[in-house]
Amino acid sequence: MFDTLSDRLTSVLKNLRGKGRLSDADIDATCREIRIALLEADVALPVVRAFIAQIKERAKGAEVSQALNPAQQVVKIVDEELVGILGGETRRLNLAKNPPSVILLAGLQGAGKTTLAGKLAKWLRGQGHTPLLVACDLQRPNAVTQLQVVGERAGVPVFAPEPGNGVGDPVEVARQSIAEAERSQYDIVLVDTAGRLGVDEELMRQASNIRDAVTPDEILFVLDAMVGQDAVNTAEAFRDGVGFTGVVLTKLDGDARGGAALSVRHVTGQPILFASNGEKLEDFDVFHPDRMASRILGMGDVLSLIEQAEQHFDQEQAEKAAQKIGSGELTLEDFLEQMLAIRKMGPIANLLGMLPGAGQMKDQLADFDEKSLDRMQAIIRGMTPAERADPKMINASRRLRISRGSGVAVSDVNDLVTRFFDARKMMQQMAGRFGM
Ligand code: GDP
Repeated sequence: MFDTLSDRLTSVLKNLRGKGRLSDADIDATCREIRIALLEADVALPVVRAFIAQIKERAKGAEVSQALNPAQQVVKIVDEELVGILGGETRRLNLAKNPPSVILLAGLQGAGKTTLAGKLAKWLRGQGHTPLLVACDLQRPNAVTQLQVVGERAGVPVFAPEPGNGVGDPVEVARQSIAEAERSQYDIVLVDTAGRLGVDEELMRQASNIRDAVTPDEILFVLDAMVGQDAVNTAEAFRDGVGFTGVVLTKLDGDARGGAALSVRHVTGQPILFASNGEKLEDFDVFHPDRMASRILGMGDVLSLIEQAEQHFDQEQAEKAAQKIGSGELTLEDFLEQMLAIRKMGPIANLLGMLPGAGQMKDQLADFDEKSLDRMQAIIRGMTPAERADPKMINASRRLRISRGSGVAVSDVNDLVTRFFDARKMMQQMAGRFGM
């Protein structure tokens, strides 16, 4: 799911990298690409429009961040807007103050309701609850048996009409299940209802009758994320016909384009609570808008890198360093300071590992020698302040002393000093070229 969308968004945003400033034309072009990517992923048009309008406004607006470059800022904005479209905060289940709480599952046939009932029951049990599954799908042959199988696997009992009584009345079954839960102290009742292949009145009426009989604390609309554009119509029909308080997305493991997942919150105004991503009972989790957004953006952990950069960024220090680089006055003291500032964010290999494409350099990252940085720090600390300011004055005998004092080979000291001069020369040339 989301693979194509992810690829598209990643490459659109990659194009911005290395740009010092973003013009309005850059932002327009980027937004155009994002728009096409979303439409191709089957995201509903009103959602795409709202999304693009937000991105444009924010990217062109005066959101100046000193810690982030323009490309990173756009990534951050897109990420935040994606989180918003997906619902913002993670929404937990609302349970009743006085048990039993009632959760009603509604949706089309094949959406994954019965499977979800089992997953939810198992998950709730893991959370210390004592759920009761209720079979109110009395239309589909085998639906009751299917729920019983699922219940057994989840280790949760199933309340169902006695076999042989003909077709039971689902409303009556639902009502009786509440009495049973009160009697036997189940704290959550999970009601599985019948679906139809398409939206029809009879289906809505039955679900509404069950709803009125048991006054649920949550009505969860179960939506197959593979169905594409049609998802939005179905969701609207259920919202108007039965009403729901939350959405569960199923089949997120499929290779569909994922537009349903991105549209349903915005279109129905109701949050996504859970996500199902496979046929096994364990393939299920609470839905976290922020995690889903990073997954869609496919930016590895660039977003956490951006967060860390913002957290640890020291404006004054950075300006000082930039100025010194430009004027060719950078000293080893500054170099040490910068190195310490970066290392505050964590091991360098971890930081590099967060960059996109880092997966391909796994081996090099594993070989990265954090100790070489320790050695550099030790060498610079072994110098006098005057030497750090002007490494030219460090003669052969001082180099030997410093190497002994910091426990490294004299060649390491030579290496550091040479590389420092090379780097300073390069920075001066670059600064000259960019007019810093
Ligand atoms: P219901 O008619 O709404 O009760 O749907 P079911 O629970 O019977 O599910 C319909 C089909 O979808 C079954 O074959 C399930 O195994 C399958 N299914 C349900 N959830 C998922 C999921 O998250 N991923 C995948 N791949 N299949 C699922």
